[in-house]
Amino acid sequence: MKTINKIFVLLVLVLASVSYASAKPKVMILATGGTIAGSAATATQAGYTAGVATVDQLISAVPQIKDLADIKGMQISNIGSQEMNDQVWLKLAKEINRLFASNECDAIVITHGTDTMEETSFFLNLVVKSDKPVVLVGAMRPSTALSADGPMNLYKAVVTATTPEAKGKGVMVLMNDYILGAADVTKMNSTNVDAFACPNYGPLGQVIGDKAYFTRAPLTRHTTNSEFSVDGLTKFPTVDIVIGYANASALPTKALVDAKVDGIVHAGVGNGNIYPTVMTELDRAVKNGIQVIRASRIPVGMVPMNGEVSDTDHGFTASGFHNAPKSRVLLMMALTKTKDLNEIRRIFAEY
Ligand code: GLU
Repeated sequence: MKTINKIFVLLVLVLASVSYASAKPKVMILATGGTIAGSAATATQAGYTAGVATVDQLISAVPQIKDLADIKGMQISNIGSQEMNDQVWLKLAKEINRLFASNECDAIVITHGTDTMEETSFFLNLVVKSDKPVVLVGAMRPSTALSADGPMNLYKAVVTATTPEAKGKGVMVLMNDYILGAADVTKMNSTNVDAFACPNYGPLGQVIGDKAYFTRAPLTRHTTNSEFSVDGLTKFPTVDIVIGYANASALPTKALVDAKVDGIVHAGVGNGNIYPTVMTELDRAVKNGIQVIRASRIPVGMVPMNGEVSDTDHGFTASGFHNAPKSRVLLMMALTKTKDLNEIRRIFAEY
């Protein structure tokens, strides 16, 4: 080969490898609504409307994310997350699995209201069939507020999603610099920007400036190691929650048993304890083939099997480290596969 040709081939190879090395990851932003897309009439007021800004407006409000990744956006819904429902969950999960299976993106960031973010993230943690990063992000202040937290949270969610260590960590939530694992993350404050925590296990890491630092990895089952799937699902089993309190009424539990729901989560007092007349109704639930999860209204700590209440005698399953809303999600998915009590107990021990 002539020297000039050799130089040309070399140049092409060098240029190709440079462009390969600098190819930015492809990140899809799926917008569902929430305060991050919220709008208020003034920059300081408490009241506002969630779910107003579109995905394109969210992306153009934070142009710095385009330095990190090739960004595309898709609007899944535009609701306050107190309106989150089975149909949006199914649409979201199926779209995520389609995007990853067709290799359309390397990571997914989901903008979401903060109220039920802990449930959506845990649900996705059980049904996403990929180890590519999925990061949920929201805001406590609407986009029109002074010091809105949404833009920085969105930037840091994209930083997290494009960090190689994010792969295989399951679904995550990015709020206020913290990278929080889906199995444990919960909203701990109804108004402050520092609202989210993993009260039992601690965060997986933090984003400082434009770099994500991972310090932990989840050991419970998730995503590619999960037995659950949304394939072929069009609706979920009915699982509802009742809360315990002093002198508790048995009426809500009785109504659920009479309605023949598939499962009941009891968010009991202390270590999952239950008022006597409510216990009678929960025993009736078990006799009628309704699965009962014994959880706690306390946001931190564990409800182990057979505490003051004998789960063995009553036919209940203890929630472990899962709070009541997460227990509801896990029981719902468990009931898509089995009604066997030992299997339900195994699932609560493994996820
Ligand atoms: N309730 C609304 C929601 O969850 C606003 C709360 C928020 O996003 O912070 O979407």
